[in-house]
Amino acid sequence: MKDLLPLIFITLATSFNNKNNFRASTPSNNMNSDDSMSSNNNMFANGMPSTNNMSSNGMPSTNNMSSNGMPSTNNMSSNGMPSTNDMSSNNFAASTGPFRLPPLGYAYNALEPYIDEATMKVHHTGHHQTYVDKLNEALSKYPQLYNVSLETLLNNIDRLPSDIREAVRNNGGGHYNHSFFWKVMTPNRGTAPNSSLRAAIDRDFGSFENFRNEFKQTALNTFGSGWTWLLKDDSGKLQIVSTPNQNTPVPLGLVPIIAIDLWEHAYYLKHQNRRNNYIDDWFNVVNWDYANQSYNA
Ligand code: MN
Repeated sequence: MKDLLPLIFITLATSFNNKNNFRASTPSNNMNSDDSMSSNNNMFANGMPSTNNMSSNGMPSTNNMSSNGMPSTNNMSSNGMPSTNDMSSNNFAASTGPFRLPPLGYAYNALEPYIDEATMKVHHTGHHQTYVDKLNEALSKYPQLYNVSLETLLNNIDRLPSDIREAVRNNGGGHYNHSFFWKVMTPNRGTAPNSSLRAAIDRDFGSFENFRNEFKQTALNTFGSGWTWLLKDDSGKLQIVSTPNQNTPVPLGLVPIIAIDLWEHAYYLKHQNRRNNYIDDWFNVVNWDYANQSYNA
């Protein structure tokens, strides 16, 4: 598939150039597209790791999130997910196309009292499902892209047909970010960075407390909607980065270790405008077991 990719994109580019609208974008999209394209081009020029690296480092692969990512009813029952039948008929089966809403992996009320049930339910079955639906809707115009992995799509936004570029950036990014977000939270209390991740945190931030303070400050200072990430580079060095909107760290070529969703939909029902309290509460449900896997992958 990887070898076919350039061909797919060239085919798309050729067909769209022939129609003279491959580079066309609507006026309302011009500023965003230009900003994003130039930054993408810089990142390409700086030599990005292949998308395979991302997949092999603990992120759910596209296959998991698409055809293999459908939760089985049995798994959901054993995990105590409420209203399994309703979710199957009303949400999980709502989308047609290559991508599917992945299972949460725990009950909607499992993160109480830190993250409330109502927020988790609307976040997963509402917001995330909508990103999946809109991503599928955009790709339905180009079935040639159905076999392209999510990471590859996100890594090649500026090579996509202009009429789906923003939709893939926003909704493909939303799908990627939320699929990761559910995994870095857990109802299990007492998970912690293991020796190698803890050593890296101590080395790169001075101490776990310093890391936590810096992560929180970065999240607090992130204006508007976005995400704050703990990422590692190829050498294992850690850094804290915020991305705006539903932009992902995929084009940065860095491996996500943990991430917090800073959109108000992630906390407003319980915490209202108190992002500060939300961040503190969220730290109680961070899945350091999953973070350890991602760091050591
Ligand atoms: Mn969200």
